Amino acid sequence: MNDRDSELIEGMLTEKGFQIVDDAEKADIALFNTCSVRQHAEDRVIGNLQKLKSRRKKDPNFRIGILGCMAKRHGEMLFKEYPQIDIVVGPSNIYDIPDLIARSTGSEKILAVDKEKRPKKKAAGDSRSGIFSAFVNIMYGCDNFCSYCIVPYVRGREVSRPKKDIVDEVKHLVDKGFKEITLLGQNVNSYGKGLSGKVTFPHLLEAINKVKDLERIRFTTSHPKDADKALFRAIRDLDKVCEHIHLPLQSGSDKMLDLMNRKYKYGDYKEKADQLKEMVPGVGISTDLIVGFPSAKESDFKATYKAMKEVEFNSAFIFKYSPRPPAESSCLVDDVKEAVKKKRNNDLLSLQKKISHQKNRSMIGTEQEVLAEGKSRMSDKELIGRTRNNTPCVFKAGEDLIGKLVKVKIKGTSPTTLKGEIV
Ligand code: SF4
Repeated sequence: MNDRDSELIEGMLTEKGFQIVDDAEKADIALFNTCSVRQHAEDRVIGNLQKLKSRRKKDPNFRIGILGCMAKRHGEMLFKEYPQIDIVVGPSNIYDIPDLIARSTGSEKILAVDKEKRPKKKAAGDSRSGIFSAFVNIMYGCDNFCSYCIVPYVRGREVSRPKKDIVDEVKHLVDKGFKEITLLGQNVNSYGKGLSGKVTFPHLLEAINKVKDLERIRFTTSHPKDADKALFRAIRDLDKVCEHIHLPLQSGSDKMLDLMNRKYKYGDYKEKADQLKEMVPGVGISTDLIVGFPSAKESDFKATYKAMKEVEFNSAFIFKYSPRPPAESSCLVDDVKEAVKKKRNNDLLSLQKKISHQKNRSMIGTEQEVLAEGKSRMSDKELIGRTRNNTPCVFKAGEDLIGKLVKVKIKGTSPTTLKGEIV
């Protein structure tokens, strides 16, 4: 989401004549597009802000802006704590950024965090950081209020973009040579709420699947309570939709899921994952898990450990809980000790490593379609890309294949990356 917002901001600003420079020291204005999802993300922004403090003091024309979730979360307080900041803009005010920058002079402080919903504007500017793979927002905000999550407070309520605007944006990207698009939403499965006529996420996938010369469709994120057979059918039947789903489980303990306000039980999740695997053989399932949620006992952790073994995720992002006021769980005592969180985090990481390795081994001998994304970091002679089920894969090939879909026979694997040969 933030990557795409940064592209949008870059597009709007370059349209107005701004240039991106690669060194903050050379910039006339430094903008931080921030994330508030964990304390660690905010701490990094603060560290970067401190580095620019003396530059701002010496140069009254130098501007510093805080954009995104941290701006919405802390608002005016940011000016008090960090007087070097000139502009604070929340995620729903994103389209005002060029005007706000134009207005920012001298010591005036500009605060724009008032909008609760992102306007349904078409994407402004046309900046994309990739050349064959692009993000496309299909909706903004979230109505789910999971108790640990700050997103509904900082990104506002859910707004779906009209289907026609999305399909037009995809066509435009394909005309420019993009081959793969990733549809973005906090919960893509509730796409269509508030739009006229009955339009669902599978309908949207169907429409995008018809876009000529588009090769691949990915999407993220799906809330397990809303992921259903219609979605699984779309993954199975629509040829451009890749066989991968990011389905955050968060915990294997029903007690924790209830405290997290996730609105499903582990049994429901498992049933859906089994159904999907049956309908779409070889599908990749990735997930998010939180360790150390308030009051989580060893037995709750064991339930998550067991769930990880049973579902056999292809990959997992594991997070140590940190309270994010005003999210509801910030009122609960953060009573799991840091050392315990760390241990649980490490235990899940090492289990996932084994499972991922096992999953990857089962692909040895198969032929996979890979979109060559660029040179591998390990060798100049190798390219790296992802299979349709989202597993990274390296293979020997020349740079001329970057951006192309290639058939690769899998010959070996590490826990994270497949190794193949072009067929
Ligand atoms: S679904 Fe839950 S975790 Fe995801 S963005 Fe919405 S509130 Fe946050």
